[in-house]
Amino acid sequence: MLERRADGFFVEEVQLDHIAESVGTPVWVYSENQIMSRLQRLQSAFAAFSYQICYAVKANSNLSILKLFKDAGAGFDIVSGGELERVLSVGADPSTVIFSGVGKRTDEIDFALKAGIGCFNVESEAELVRLASRAKLLGRVAPVSLRINPDIDARTHPYISTGLKESKFGVPLSQAIELYRRAASDPALKVTGIDCHIGSQIGETAPLLEALDEMLKLRASLESAGIPVHHLDLGGGFGIAYQNEPDFDVEAYGRAIAKKVRGLDLTLMFEPGRFFVGNSGLLLTRVEYLKPGATTTDRSFAVVDAAMTELIRPALYSAYHEIVPLASTHELPRVWDIVGPVCESGDFLAKDRSLALTPDMLLAILSAGAYGSVQSSNYNTRPRAAEVLVSGSEIRTIRRRETLRELLAIERESLQGSL
Ligand SMILES: *Cc1c(COP(=O)(O)O)cnc(C)c1O
Repeated sequence: MLERRADGFFVEEVQLDHIAESVGTPVWVYSENQIMSRLQRLQSAFAAFSYQICYAVKANSNLSILKLFKDAGAGFDIVSGGELERVLSVGADPSTVIFSGVGKRTDEIDFALKAGIGCFNVESEAELVRLASRAKLLGRVAPVSLRINPDIDARTHPYISTGLKESKFGVPLSQAIELYRRAASDPALKVTGIDCHIGSQIGETAPLLEALDEMLKLRASLESAGIPVHHLDLGGGFGIAYQNEPDFDVEAYGRAIAKKVRGLDLTLMFEPGRFFVGNSGLLLTRVEYLKPGATTTDRSFAVVDAAMTELIRPALYSAYHEIVPLASTHELPRVWDIVGPVCESGDFLAKDRSLALTPDMLLAILSAGAYGSVQSSNYNTRPRAAEVLVSGSEIRTIRRRETLRELLAIERESLQGSL
């Protein structure tokens, strides 16, 4: 999304220096056209069968970004009552909303039942029991799909692998039929589909297609047991390029799915997040200080104004993010660790990067649109950064920088009460 031109670095028609000057740093910058073209790419890849895309809200839940998806006809995959509040507030049709997650609280279930969401992706027997009792109490019928854990290795980072037996997610295939029987016989529940999500940042189509095979088998068994299934939800998890790796091949995936489901009366659902927004956003930061090592064997640190409080992915998953200096200099390149001001040795954004840097230089941290701003924290009492959406030559601040006053307000309340 970052384009180098003779007169600087651009996102669409906006020069990044201009954003840094007008909004300050650190700041998240997203490209509307990039997000929408990724959505269109998936829509064309899946055109040969009936499908519904439910954007995984947790990847980037900014209301203006949710609005883009809603206006483009996408549904939503949520994992909390908070995310339900978000999608309803941008006018999402509740019937396009599916609710995933292992720990749905009673108040969240009630909220979703009253809103009339499209499907609950149920992750345990205990949850099924709770959902049925709440639905009965509220006089509703809960649409359900069981999240199956197919015990398939998504071959990704262990923290974002969710389809193995040892993971907390979903119900094992061996218990599925029995649970579906219970759901089908409960008048407070309506079985609508089968769900599965085996992990994130998946590079190959093979594990996802293996999961699809398992789900098709389960669907056939359920049909024989007299339990019809209208949709298969294959989850999200499509990987993107952070370094040199190729994007997940959605076109090949779409072709393979089309072959497997030909002739079946089924809608396929997908819950991608990262695929749309990951490479559609960057984090803009400024170098505060340079601390070159005293000898060639000592580490050299570039201290920037962004930190793990903005982007925790390097610390949490050893994630790689490309760093691009937005100015040139006559300084020679040196191997730098790019670190933030937070008082933790784990507070780094990149390690061992050969870059020519000077103080005050702007840096773009690429591929930061997914699982970036949403994982921000206020650690070290750092107000959360602003977010900006670029569309053509237009810039819109879609979340202004948090102020210290706002950050302290809910603690001041109790201080006043006790004085
Ligand atoms: C996180 C998550 C997704 C989205 O994963 P991506 O890798 O961002 O596509 C989809 N479904 C569920 C259930 C999830 O937990």
